[in-house]
Amino acid sequence: MIKGVIFDLDGTVYIGETPVPGAVELIDRIRSNNIRILYVTNRANKTTAEIAGRLNDIGVPAKPSEVLTSSQAAAEYLEPGGFYYIGQEGLRKPLVDAGFTYSETSPEYVFVGLDPELTYDKLVKACRFIRNGSCFVATNMDPFAISEEGISPGNGSIVESLRIATEKDPLVIGKPEKPIMDIALRRLDIDPEELIIVGDNIVTDIQAGKNSGIRSVLILTGVSKVSDVGDIVPDVVVDTFVDLSKLIFTE
Ligand SMILES: [Mg+2]
Repeated sequence: MIKGVIFDLDGTVYIGETPVPGAVELIDRIRSNNIRILYVTNRANKTTAEIAGRLNDIGVPAKPSEVLTSSQAAAEYLEPGGFYYIGQEGLRKPLVDAGFTYSETSPEYVFVGLDPELTYDKLVKACRFIRNGSCFVATNMDPFAISEEGISPGNGSIVESLRIATEKDPLVIGKPEKPIMDIALRRLDIDPEELIIVGDNIVTDIQAGKNSGIRSVLILTGVSKVSDVGDIVPDVVVDTFVDLSKLIFTE
């Protein structure tokens, strides 16, 4: 019996502003059967309110508390302290709300999230703080971001430039690493054996399931194809939300 579903968002529930076919209907059915849902995304530059708003816009009723971003997970996972950051409001807000304070004087942390307004000056500051002992925190290591217009460098690309410059490895919060999954499990308060994680990316979503003891379902609506299955093997592969519906409601 499945009591909760952890959904990835980009490439799973929606692509850009468009819902994936069948997603709206199945999520509605899941909700009306009192199966808990948590949307867990590596996206770091949008707030949970903005993402819940996008879900509502495409016809999926969602509250900010049902969305967990890698930024939100970072804010919940770490002890508050002074911070410098590369990122946007989606990173700044959860940190400040959790009691972290912005600092350009020996900050305890340097957070790196996706920042379309990245400048060399920001990289210089982050590099020097990390070299001087600030804890280097990556919200996620996604190599690229996909939109309707094409592929752009993801947060992992920014993090790697700092890894090279600082010669230090970051603490990574997002999928597939455990911090975000630990926060997700704490939020849901459901036994991992009664959960499934559904996502379109083998490297992040499926590996996240493996790392946290949650059955993983690869849905072939986004980045990963059956031919990508190699060392990381999903527990279940489904083509569409119709197949996912059968999985959830016949168990
Ligand atoms: Mg995805």
